Amino acid sequence: MQLTCLDDDPRMERTLRRFAGRLGHELRFHGSADAFKLDVLINPPALMVIDLELGHETGVDVVLWLSQQAIRAPLVLLSGHGDELLDTARRIASASGLPVLGAVNKASMVRELPPLLERIAPSPRHTPPARGAPFTLDGQRLAAHIHAGRIEPFFQPIVAGDGILRDAEVLTRLRLPDGEVLGAQHIVPLAESSGLIPALTEALFESLLASRETLAALALDHLSVNLSVVQLDVALTTALVRRLIDGLTGCCDVRVELTESATLADSQAVRELGAQLRLAGASLAMDDFGTGYSSLRALAELPYDTLKVDLCFVAELFDSHKAERLLGAILALCDSLGLQVVAEGVETIAQAEWLCDAGVDRLQGYLFGAPMPLDELVSRFGLDA
Ligand code: C2E
Ligand code: CA
Ligand code: CA
Repeated sequence: MQLTCLDDDPRMERTLRRFAGRLGHELRFHGSADAFKLDVLINPPALMVIDLELGHETGVDVVLWLSQQAIRAPLVLLSGHGDELLDTARRIASASGLPVLGAVNKASMVRELPPLLERIAPSPRHTPPARGAPFTLDGQRLAAHIHAGRIEPFFQPIVAGDGILRDAEVLTRLRLPDGEVLGAQHIVPLAESSGLIPALTEALFESLLASRETLAALALDHLSVNLSVVQLDVALTTALVRRLIDGLTGCCDVRVELTESATLADSQAVRELGAQLRLAGASLAMDDFGTGYSSLRALAELPYDTLKVDLCFVAELFDSHKAERLLGAILALCDSLGLQVVAEGVETIAQAEWLCDAGVDRLQGYLFGAPMPLDELVSRFGLDA
């Protein structure tokens, strides 16, 4: 395999040549950005190693140039400036469409770089063709689907550290007459922008109430529902949740997940909603914690008892030491505030083990199951399963 490297420190050539030689890779080493660029255009590499500190033209400039040229060979970033800078540079490269295999601090290069060099395989040089046009649905059609009873709840399992089902999150789906199922991203933003959220929420809750007997077979602690706070009508929303709580009495408790979008929501109305929901007996979870929409300010202002750590933290868990430390700090915060913690987006056993060891109470993600129809949830997790 061909390994093309850019580092203005000539001593690096010997080290990299040693690593590459052991793995049987061909090394092409360049001390200047211009020579590196010319070479990757002529000889597409299987892997690129780029030092961030190069002088006037930095490694970040080179990364952006690679992106402009649509050169998509896997990339390893090197830096002597520490993990924080590496982490940000890795984000820049990934967001520019470059597959980043790793970001390595030069201080730990001898240990961390060789395993990355072992992982290279031939990769396409150009980006794959763009996908087809996105699906379009307008407010009028959505309203008609809602009235025709086509809103369907899907359920995603939420488990404890022992893998046993404890809660489930309800996620909206739209089942079209031809059987195609549309995801929440096609429905919720449109419902928000066209004033259809109350109708959507009501349709979803009615469907949950109609499935009460089946839900009871799951013996859940909580059934989680998502509420939108855009153009919020507190009285109407509280009434809908009360009806759900009453209808599911003896079956499971109701948890409401809120993401507070500071720019779109009326914060006094969101405070009122939070208070009314807790008084009605609902549990209250802050969704997507750690993203721009769920802040420490909202944590201070609303009566949350649960915090859902956004899936981006879980996805990045093993990418950098910073990610692990950040997650550890979030868990310490939850511990001191007495909040139950649910980690979202758990996809691997390694993530689940790390999270449980770190004190996360509940796990949710594709590792345990994607959102699914109720009968599937019951057949996989029901008491008789
Ligand atoms: P959310 O509440 O954060 O829901 C979690 C989303 O992450 C779901 O997407 C789920 O399918 C996805 N997910 C679950 N596990 C994994 C995983 O392991 N990896 C990855 N990459 N993704 C995972 P979905 O169903 O498309 O929902 C998107 C968003 O739409 C939800 O985000 C929620 O904010 C909103 N939403 C869904 N249903 C409703 C609803 O009934 N009402 C309102 N207001 N919003 C809803
Ligand atoms: Ca949610
Ligand atoms: Ca979430």
